[in-house]
Amino acid sequence: MRHLPISLDLRNRRIVVAGAGETALAKLRILLKTEADIVVFGATPAPETERLSRAGRCRLVRRPIVASDLAGATLLYAAHGDAAADARAVALARSEGVLCNAVDDLEASDFLTPAIVDRDPVTVAIGTEGTAPMLARLLKREFEERLPSDLGLLARLAGGFRRRAATLRNADARRRFWRRFFLERRPVQARGGRPGDAVAALDDLLEAVRNETAPAGHVYLVGAGPGDPELMTLKARRLLDEADVVIHDRLASAGALELARREARIVSVGKQPGGPSWRQEDINALLVAEAAAGAQVVRLKCGDPAVFGRLDEEIDALEAAGVAYSVVPGVTAATAAAASAGASLTRRCRNADLRILTGHDVDGFAEQDWRALAKPGAAAAIYMGVAAAKFLQGRLLMHGADPATPVAVVENASLPGETILSARLGDLSGEMAAFGVRGPAILLFGVAARRHDAGVAAAAAVAGASQ
Ligand code: SAH
Repeated sequence: MRHLPISLDLRNRRIVVAGAGETALAKLRILLKTEADIVVFGATPAPETERLSRAGRCRLVRRPIVASDLAGATLLYAAHGDAAADARAVALARSEGVLCNAVDDLEASDFLTPAIVDRDPVTVAIGTEGTAPMLARLLKREFEERLPSDLGLLARLAGGFRRRAATLRNADARRRFWRRFFLERRPVQARGGRPGDAVAALDDLLEAVRNETAPAGHVYLVGAGPGDPELMTLKARRLLDEADVVIHDRLASAGALELARREARIVSVGKQPGGPSWRQEDINALLVAEAAAGAQVVRLKCGDPAVFGRLDEEIDALEAAGVAYSVVPGVTAATAAAASAGASLTRRCRNADLRILTGHDVDGFAEQDWRALAKPGAAAAIYMGVAAAKFLQGRLLMHGADPATPVAVVENASLPGETILSARLGDLSGEMAAFGVRGPAILLFGVAARRHDAGVAAAAAVAGASQ
């Protein structure tokens, strides 16, 4: 982030606009929303600038700007609509130490003015660091449509209510109050009630929250999906937004964690393959301790919590400690991988069942019912199979599997670094090594990728799959 969006207090501050024509007017429209003292310099002002000056909205000085005009100014806008004139104004600002913005000139500017959605005192600033003004405009339009017009009123009402809300001593209770204030009290305003009605209703809400007993701790075992935040359920998003503590795996994506509220404590209990790791007993103990302290805990697991997620062990610990819990499913890596490869996990006349396997278990490479897997048309989604690829290949071939059986290897399914290798069982481990698959990856055994980045041609692979 090269530019930091900050909110500047402009009361009793002076903003100087160099230029008084149409370019300056476009800036003036935004600047006039502030409480700043605005001075416009230009020998040939646009009629609208004249009108604004007559209406007392700004001061108009009918000559080009000079250095002494900048004494005591906070910001300068160089807005002549003329590059040479703007460059002169920027040079003046630099010599006087005044931060300046040259319209449509990123490199000459110390700061940029974002597109603004104005629901004063609520403002949304949209900046693209000069890369895509059209995108900023489109986003602005989207926010304009989405944000209710009385949002500012609601915020002012909240501002007036802060003192009274502060009488709720407990921080969690205050948080519950404010959540309900914004989520439930909106209709008070929408109905067009008098402000007094709204305040009375808010008083009732405050008393209701004051008399509530604090909710007991609860652990939500939540599937975060394979990585793309758009593949998270609405429920997972809501729970993340409400959680006091988020305890997550290594593979729970940064995008998912962004959805946690700002005050939430985020604890990583990731188990690095081959590296230092949290012991499962310690994770269980942490879940129990947080819930016992009354926290709403989200235990965020990648994919679906019920697939190779050690869910039962955590549930056993929670049940033994009498902690309430719920499980929220997620999109598992196998279905995400199939979606990316444009392939179906089951196929009429090919496989009526699909196995979900791990390449690794507590004893190392996991043994399976190889004979069944080696049969023509068998299909399996293999988790944690990267290191085990050679072993899997050897076992399957040894039990008579066809070396031409397609294997779709999907690495980082749904994530920006996603890659798909379309391989054959006969040279699976060699191709994975050559392609540099490091994981996390799913091996879809018996499934031909229709879309892939490397490996056997898709058409050939599909033909192979239907043999
Ligand atoms: N509960 C998870 C699986 C956890 S085991 C789920 O339902 O998906 C960890 C394994 O999941 C990884 O070794 C890898 O095989 C697979 N995995 C997780 N995220 C993945 C992703 N984005 N792309 C490919 N495989 C993934």
